[in-house]
Amino acid sequence: MSVEKMLKNASEIALLSAAIPPALMALRFVQGQKQAEAVWRASQYPKMGDIGSVKRLSILPLIDWYTASDDLEGEAGVSYLIRADDTTILFDMGLNKNQEHPSPLLRNMARLGVAFDDIDLIVISHNHLDHVGGMANVKDGIFAPSAGYVNLHQMPAYVPVPITNVSATAIQVDAPMALVPGVASMGPIPRQLFFLGWTPEQSLAINVEGKGMVLIIGCGHPTIQKIIARKEMLFDEPLYGVIGGLHFPVTASRSVRHGIPAQQYFGTGRWPWDHTTKADVHEAISFIYRRDPKVVSLSPHDSCDWSLAAFRDAFGDRYVDLMVGKEIVI
Ligand SMILES: [Zn+2]
Ligand SMILES: [Zn+2]
Repeated sequence: MSVEKMLKNASEIALLSAAIPPALMALRFVQGQKQAEAVWRASQYPKMGDIGSVKRLSILPLIDWYTASDDLEGEAGVSYLIRADDTTILFDMGLNKNQEHPSPLLRNMARLGVAFDDIDLIVISHNHLDHVGGMANVKDGIFAPSAGYVNLHQMPAYVPVPITNVSATAIQVDAPMALVPGVASMGPIPRQLFFLGWTPEQSLAINVEGKGMVLIIGCGHPTIQKIIARKEMLFDEPLYGVIGGLHFPVTASRSVRHGIPAQQYFGTGRWPWDHTTKADVHEAISFIYRRDPKVVSLSPHDSCDWSLAAFRDAFGDRYVDLMVGKEIVI
């Protein structure tokens, strides 16, 4: 074989092997999208019936992008303290980007006077770094509020995929499930993401007496349309509130990695070049608006300021800014 031929073969092989991972990713993406749609179509649940109700509900963001005061720390992650009558729920565990101990979550908790002794149960919306306490945790299949040991007192932790914590009692949620009176997980809804892969995400529905259902959402990967459709499948009560992440990084991304606006590429459930648009945001707003909710609060951890402003404009005095340390009382 001539040297030229060998070089040509080598360069073809190099080209081919460079192209294979993207081709495999594309294949995985297409198959995963089909699978997610199949799971969605097959997930026909009956009404949950009477899950009870709560008289008092408040949501105190412990981690998110914006803070209500300078002594609190913001990051592109989620952790909310939900008080539903006498039950206190920790919803997600933040990002802890620099893997610190104590983490920003723990530091904010201390400043806000919240202790793990006060918490009854944990809910993890989905297994992404900004919700389970960092990338290392995703790799290890765990969720953790800090980089060092924190005693979670073996409290129940409702998770949508098999992830654990050594001091909690993980319970995998495969379908809609009542957690405590008035509070239910609506069960995971999967989405295939191009880089991050198969992503089942669960949202909470909390029935507030005399008002209706308040939805609490982590990243919103399944789309708000599907999350609300699931709520309407399970419950007859009106939609009272929509609180949390809906993933609308239209004009900017909160996390930029190696110069790449990560959220615009990684969390959309579309091809990497097919970004979320202003039209998508308007579509979601009108979908929510038609249900006439009384409280809407969009998490800034995975939505840009343009999207926040669009929601604020649309919902007017029913819109509440979501900030660490500012309790949302329903
Ligand atoms: Zn997120
Ligand atoms: Zn996510």
